[in-house]
Amino acid sequence: MSRLAFPGKLKPQVLVDTDYMSDAYQPFDPAYSTNHSPEALILHHAAVISAQRDRAELEVVVMDAIRAALDAASVELFRVFTPKGDCLAGLVAKADDNGRHCLDDGLSWPANTASIEHFPALHRSLTSGHSIVVPATEDGLHEQVFPVVREGNVFFAFVVVRQRAALSTQQQQLVHGLIRLFCNQLRMLDYSEVDTLTGLLNRKTFDESLLRILSSLQHNDIVADGNILHLPRRRHALDTEESHWLGVIDIDHFKNINDTYGHLIGDEVLLMIANMMKSSFRTHDKLFRFGGEEFVVVLKPTEQHNALMIFERFRRQIEDHPFPQVGHLTISTGFARIGINDLPSAIIDNADEALYWAKHHGRNQVFNYEALVAAGHLKKRDAETSNVELF
Ligand code: GH3
Ligand code: MG
Ligand code: MG
Repeated sequence: MSRLAFPGKLKPQVLVDTDYMSDAYQPFDPAYSTNHSPEALILHHAAVISAQRDRAELEVVVMDAIRAALDAASVELFRVFTPKGDCLAGLVAKADDNGRHCLDDGLSWPANTASIEHFPALHRSLTSGHSIVVPATEDGLHEQVFPVVREGNVFFAFVVVRQRAALSTQQQQLVHGLIRLFCNQLRMLDYSEVDTLTGLLNRKTFDESLLRILSSLQHNDIVADGNILHLPRRRHALDTEESHWLGVIDIDHFKNINDTYGHLIGDEVLLMIANMMKSSFRTHDKLFRFGGEEFVVVLKPTEQHNALMIFERFRRQIEDHPFPQVGHLTISTGFARIGINDLPSAIIDNADEALYWAKHHGRNQVFNYEALVAAGHLKKRDAETSNVELF
């Protein structure tokens, strides 16, 4: 079972246990490299990489594969983040003599993230577009930086290899090959996570994302196969006002649009709304098409009044937007706190209750579940009574 990405309490339904996935869960046995030919070793790692269905795990196993193939002292992966007008880098995965380390929770930038200029070798690799060799330092280790460039010439990450000797041409080719495998696997994950009409994340990804958030709220460090996996600590204590929020957005009277203008125009409206979501919410907020004409937004930690302001801003943008052919339309939104001990199904139910409140009180509005409970409009559901399973 996958312990790296889904630590702690989990719903068993998300743990894939089919035979073809078994490669994903095998820790690398160092004896493998002495008992097998180099070709068998590479094929073994290729099989492990191609079995990954989780980004954080994929990053770690690729670093481990490179380390094992080169017998390197350490191999690190720095992800590139490009918020508006900025270029940042942060260490997300590492393999060395002490094992494999994952610093990517799939939600936030790692704590060590800084402007790319703070990493001179990465910066040089970025500006030149090439691999950079850094001469050996006082610890005697040679360093080589490999850019990971994805479709559309996008700098996705850098692999930094440290070795006692400079890498031979053959070793460099090996690294390039494993990086290509990494990119292919990333593309496959992209494809499986995205809704084809809108380009938003799909329902399956939502289920996994919510579990990941709850799991990372509950756990910091976990131990697997003797390796301590350092997951990022949450910056905000759980009882402070800031928390993640889950909003359900539903288009008002969407059936009328289909009935009046046809399904194709209806689809176009869904696509336009998805695009408006992409520009209205911030890069760290996660956007999903939950089904049909319903969308879900998971906001990164913020206070309740900010969450309300963010959803309210989007509601207004839709209300004000003249949609080609269709004219004006509106959305209703319900949102609820993602609490540390909440069941995924209870969080959705809470947001849904707030959404129904909006639907029954005039539509084109945003309501927060906790505020409705505090005002006595809704009765807080006992956690035990929320037995509708999400999956
Ligand atoms: P309400 O304000 O109560 O949400 O009313 P509504 O008409 O939006 O809600 P209802 O649940 O009655 O209808 C949802 C409609 O969404 C029904 C279906 O035709 C349409 N729909 C669902 N999925 C798709 C899709 O992928 N494409 C298109 N074009 N329409 C869809
Ligand atoms: Mg609906
Ligand atoms: Mg609707």
